Amino acid sequence: MSAKVWQEIKEILGERATTDVFERQFYQRDLAPVPEFLVDPMAKTLPDIIVRPCNAAELSDVVKIAVKEKIPITGRAGGSTVYFNSVCSQNGILVDFNGLTGLGKIDRSTNRVRVGAGTTWAELERVLNRQGLAVCSYPSSAPSATVGGWLAMMGYGLGSLKYGALVEQVAAAQVVLPDGSIQELTHSTPIPVSWLAGSEGTLGLITEVELQIRPIPEIQWHGMAVFQDAAAMQHFIEQAAALEEKPFNLHFSDPGCNALRYRLGMGSEPTSAVYTAAFDADGTKDEIAEAAEGFSNCLSAAGGEDWSQEAAEEWEHRFFSLLLKREGPSLLGAELWLPINKLALYLRDISSYENKEKLGLKTYGHVVSSSHAMVMTMFNADERNTIGYLQGLALVKKLHDIGARYGAAPYGIGLWNTSYLQRNYTKTQLAELKQRKKQLDPNDLMNPGKLYQAPLFLSPPFFSIGMDILAASRLFYRGRNLI
Ligand SMILES: Cc1cc2nc3c(=O)[nH]c(=O)nc-3n(C[C@H](O)[C@H](O)[C@H](O)COP(=O)(O)OP(=O)(O)OC[C@H]3O[C@@H](n4cnc5c(N)ncnc54)[C@H](O)[C@@H]3O)c2cc1C
Repeated sequence: MSAKVWQEIKEILGERATTDVFERQFYQRDLAPVPEFLVDPMAKTLPDIIVRPCNAAELSDVVKIAVKEKIPITGRAGGSTVYFNSVCSQNGILVDFNGLTGLGKIDRSTNRVRVGAGTTWAELERVLNRQGLAVCSYPSSAPSATVGGWLAMMGYGLGSLKYGALVEQVAAAQVVLPDGSIQELTHSTPIPVSWLAGSEGTLGLITEVELQIRPIPEIQWHGMAVFQDAAAMQHFIEQAAALEEKPFNLHFSDPGCNALRYRLGMGSEPTSAVYTAAFDADGTKDEIAEAAEGFSNCLSAAGGEDWSQEAAEEWEHRFFSLLLKREGPSLLGAELWLPINKLALYLRDISSYENKEKLGLKTYGHVVSSSHAMVMTMFNADERNTIGYLQGLALVKKLHDIGARYGAAPYGIGLWNTSYLQRNYTKTQLAELKQRKKQLDPNDLMNPGKLYQAPLFLSPPFFSIGMDILAASRLFYRGRNLI
């Protein structure tokens, strides 16, 4: 990057821009530890410069410089993704969104709030709760995930079953487009706000969001259903997801995951042997009464047991997935968008795979619509053991392949999931996404190298063969993985 560019950016942001290598290196990774020798051939991850704008005007000026000088520009907020979504792939400018925080006006007549894109979901909920209000949904990474980051991802999590995907709650978003202009996108502007959902920072940088919120629920009610087998649990889940009065949250765990909860002090020993589905309702007294009745009906129809005495504790630990690495040193896994009517078949195959490979697999998931769940199957890994870790990456592909048998696709793409693009999108859908990118960012400067196309080493034939060879190498030598 030229001294002139650095000088121009410094004039806009002063101390909130840096080229200090000590600071820049922290942005070279996300939550997934990937060995450098795998990263280096595929991505130039060290940003040349970090900028921390405090408003849209500052960001717009920076983007205009990037466009003029053809410098790649990548956004990063909480950095709570794992597929290098917010890691530079071609050096350039990295925009740290953590200065774009805070709440603006709350309109109580429409129940809408204006919020800075870098505000975390936990902080937003805390501030709203003090005023008798609440968000409609949030990710299970809410303590670190930001409003803009979740919108730029798929935007499904707790609350989605009842209130829909995040984009349905977004009335408008202020965005710095790849040409540097500041625009207010709504559902009826020529560039609709829906284009941002799942765009992973490749179509524009979100600075503010106008969000639908709700009065804080009067009361909450927590139920826990227990099953001896996955088929009965699926039956319960399908019925619960179809209820008129939907639970705010519906999530499930297999025995492997429940055993982990117990080991980490976040669950009871008896649940380690069973499948569990947590059913969390909130609202008025009448709504709660209807939801609790729905829970009981679904439970009897599916032949489960009522262990609701455990439900409040499970709710307290609803962010437990942020703590799973405690048993570490690390975790590998596949996060899938799975049809709920195939859940039992998926869990059956995962159980057979576990019997064969003895990886200590654990699976949990959130039901986020009446048809789909976000499902995570994972196992412990140790990135310090190179061969074991590489073999572990190959096993992650096996988990994805098991999911694909039942119509599942990866949840989130970034860099590492580009190999599976054909599972996420049909040819027509992908062509449309590429067309949007070409229209808004013809020079491919905004978060380049992600989402639309796999780099050579990750292109499906290379990737498949490479991963299959690695997985097969376990027949001769098994690298150390912790269970
Ligand atoms: C334990 C755990 C639980 C999780 N649970 C969920 C869940 O329930 N639901 C879910 O969807 N995801 C989940 N995730 C994934 C991730 O936390 C979320 O997608 C989160 O919303 C990302 O927000 P972030 O602020 O960390 O974004 P980052 O990770 O910083 O960025 C994510 C992507 O968005 C882009 N981006 C960030 N901010 C902006 C912005 N202001 N404008 C434009 N682009 C931007 C980045 O360039 C990147 O491509 C989970 C992750 C973990 C580790």
